[in-house]
Formats: sequence, structure tokens, C-alpha cells
Amino acid sequence: MTRLESWGRLPRSVVPQARSLYWQSDVLHSISGKGKSVLAYGLGRSYGDSCLNDQGVLLLTRGLDRFISFDPVNGIIRCEAGVSLAEVLELVVPRGWFLPVTPGTKFVTVGGAVANDVHGKNHHVDGTFGHAVRRLELMRSDGSRRECSPTQNQDVYFATIGGLGLTGVITWVEFQLKKISSPLIDQEVIKFGGLDEFFALSRESEHQFMYTVSWIDCLASKRNLGRGLFIRGNHATDGIDAARAKSVASINAKWHLPMDLPNVAMHPLTVKAFNLAYYHKQLRTHHATRVFYDPFFYPLDAVHDWNRIYGKRGFYQYQCVVPFSSGTAAMREILDTISRARLGSFLAVLKTFGAKPSLGMMSFPRHGVTLALDFANTGDDVLRLFERLDAITCAANGSVYIAKDARMSPAAFRQYYPRWQEFRHFVDPRFSSSFWQRIMESA
Ligand SMILES: Cc1cc2nc3c(=O)[nH]c(=O)nc-3n(C[C@H](O)[C@H](O)[C@H](O)COP(=O)(O)OP(=O)(O)OC[C@H]3O[C@@H](n4cnc5c(N)ncnc54)[C@H](O)[C@@H]3O)c2cc1C
Repeated sequence: MTRLESWGRLPRSVVPQARSLYWQSDVLHSISGKGKSVLAYGLGRSYGDSCLNDQGVLLLTRGLDRFISFDPVNGIIRCEAGVSLAEVLELVVPRGWFLPVTPGTKFVTVGGAVANDVHGKNHHVDGTFGHAVRRLELMRSDGSRRECSPTQNQDVYFATIGGLGLTGVITWVEFQLKKISSPLIDQEVIKFGGLDEFFALSRESEHQFMYTVSWIDCLASKRNLGRGLFIRGNHATDGIDAARAKSVASINAKWHLPMDLPNVAMHPLTVKAFNLAYYHKQLRTHHATRVFYDPFFYPLDAVHDWNRIYGKRGFYQYQCVVPFSSGTAAMREILDTISRARLGSFLAVLKTFGAKPSLGMMSFPRHGVTLALDFANTGDDVLRLFERLDAITCAANGSVYIAKDARMSPAAFRQYYPRWQEFRHFVDPRFSSSFWQRIMESA
């Protein structure tokens, strides 16, 4: 039996059946049999249970790995849904194009990027991956195939962008790439002392920088609350510097974590020491440098299986967004609550989302500020903390990202995703996921 997990390795009880898709022409019931529910599974980079299907069948999409067409003049690419973003980059970067939007790992499939309508460091400029999708094909369990675009089968298109794999299997996607003149990024790292400085830097950078993101010290408190490193960058504009790019890229060796780390690695003192050292690693307040795109966008990809750092019990990620309209007090309260609980970890990311509305009915991003933070699975204390964070997020009219979730309540879900009733009509009757079962139980 194939062992399949989500990235956070939670929940652990799932023992799915898996079937591989290889051909766009595959017919669902002939591969998955009748009766059981089905769900597409890409590279399993979702953290919680939205890419799992307890008691059902997972349809592995990595066999759908062919490029269909590429227009190098206009940067329009069509590929099967199991192609990874890493494979797209290999093809297009040497030809002067880049992904329109990329999450913090390139080991996700194009189908997975659409189904979670992923966002990246350029959200304030370009919105989400869905904004670049020109058309896609959806295979439904009744044997039908629907080509969808903003003008053709629009309602299905808007349900499938960010549709959590529940509207059917996406077989191929056509999307618009971004023109670049170099694979290098002009990067600046700026140390900031707290949330006010973070917001000021975000405002200042919004119009001048394509990419912005911040790492924050989640255990800092009082006057240091929300301090961190603001990272911003633009594609270099002085031509493809192939030799330099190659030499910079070669530093980017791959690391594998050979085993699960013992829980002591996540002890609060270890985490505090790491955060302190990381914040002070840069002595200067402002550091500008030129880097290869890979470490800029995907620093975590250099350590394969880094999710094992949290040990055998797995981990949660909590990613929320609170709208600007509710002010900045909610984010301050969220950070304060996490800092007091002393449960956060090394990876705390803060970023502003721009005003471009997401296209998908179930898309997560909305205009505001988003925080993403890993938490080791230490049991009830961390779940109680999430309830406190949910209460603040709900009160601020915010939301929590389903791709990162393994525990939100049905009630919280209905508030975070007010279009869920409309979306429900587009869910294919044969499709389900562990997340959907959990959320719909009492709906
Ligand atoms: C280190 C790291 C950093 C990340 N950073 C970000 C970030 O910055 N921004 C962000 O938005 N996300 C981020 N993520 C989350 C990740 O981008 C998403 O979860 C992504 O959707 C995973 O893609 P996948 O191919 O692994 O899909 P899976 O996790 O396998 O599946 C995700 C969803 O897509 C559906 N799906 C997959 N293929 C298809 C298909 N062919 N047809 C229909 N549905 C399909 C599945 O059913 C499931 O609902 C990050 C994840 C990691 C591990």
C-alpha cells in the first residue's frame, strides 16, 4: 500500500487507497472503481487534511506530467496538471520567463497550485495563481470534461480556482508567465523593531518592489513584539547573467533530513535561542545583495523533508489573514497571544496581501495582513491556543488558510468562507476530502 501523508503529517490515522492517473483521457470510474469517494493528490504539500481522503481513494496526478504547448513570445504555457512548478521553472527561466505567482516551495503541482489558488511574495502586485490561469480542463465523475475560463463555464472556473480539488480533476492548465531579463533577484533585507515599522516598510515597498515578505521573531514580546527581517526584491534587469547565475546556484546544495528529530529540538528554549540568533544574524540594519531566484523564493527547499524536524508527532501550521479594514490591533493581539503561549517555532512569516480580489469562491487571500506560523503537535495546549487565535481572527472578520489547516471547526469555516453554500453546488458528488468530511459533518 502506498503511504501518503500531508506535509504536516497530521492526521496520522489515514490509510488511503491510491491510484495513479497517467492519461488525460483516463476515465475516473475505471481507475477508482465505483462507490468510494475520490480526490486528486499532487505533491502533498498541503499541511493538513485537505489533500487526504480518509476511507476514500486518492488519485495521484504526478503521472500527468507532460507539457502541451509553450508560446515563447507571449509567455503562455499549457501543461498537464501533475507538472510541478520546479519543472515549469526549468523549462521557462532559460527562455526569459518566470512563474506568475509561486508559493514558498516549488515542489507543488500546477493542479495543486490552482486548487488552493496559491499566493506568493508578489500578492500585493499580481494577486494569486488563479489570476494567471487562462483556461483549464476539468474531468468530472459523470465522464464529462469541461473547458473552463473567465468567459467559458465561468461559474465552474470560479469554483475550481481555490476549489480544494472538490469540483473534479483538473487535467491541464493554461497560464500566463511573467517576463524576466535575469534569473537573479536584487534583494534587500531590512531589520525592523516591531509591527509599526513592518507596516511602514510594507507601505514604502509596495510600489517599488515586486516581492516582499518578512520573517518575524514570534517569541519577542512587549516593545519588541513583531520584530523581524523584512525581505524585498525585484528581478535583476541587466540581462541574463548565465555564468553568475550558475555559480550562485551551485551554492544551493540539497540537504535531506535523515530522520525525525527528537522533540527536544522544539523545546521553547531551543526555539527562543534560534529566533534570537536569527534576528541578530544580520548586524547591519539594511543589507542589499544579488541572489539566484531559488534561495530567494524557496529557502526551505534546500532541506528536503524539513517537516521531519518536528518529530514523529507532526506539526500544524496556522495561517490567518486579518483585513486592513479591521485595523492593526487584531494582528498585534494574535502575536501577543502566541508570544505569551511560548509555543511558536522557527518559521513565522508576515506579509501584506494587496487589494486585488481573489477569483475563487473559496480562495483564501484578501486585502490585509497575513501571518503563517508552524507549531509542533504538542497536544491540547496548542489546540487551545488555536481556538484563542480563531476567536481574534473571527472577530476581525479574517480567515484561516484551508491548505494549512487540520483542525478548524465547521462554525469557524462557515464564517471564514461565506461563499461555501454557493460553492457546495459545484462539488462533484463523487469527490470528497478528509477536510470536507470534517467541515461538513455538522453543516
Ligand atoms: C514549504 C511550503 C511553503 C508553502 N508556501 C506557500 C505559500 O507561500 N503560499 C501558498 O498559497 N501556499 C503555500 N504552501 C502550500 C502549498 O503551496 C499548497 O498546499 C499547494 O496547493 C500544494 O500543492 P500540491 O501539488 O502539493 O497539492 P496537494 O497538497 O497534493 O493537494 C492540494 C489540493 O489540490 C488538489 N489537487 C491537486 N491536484 C489536483 C488536480 N489535478 N485537480 C484537482 N485538484 C487537485 C487536491 O485535491 C488538494 O485539495 C506551502 C507549502 C509548503 C510545504
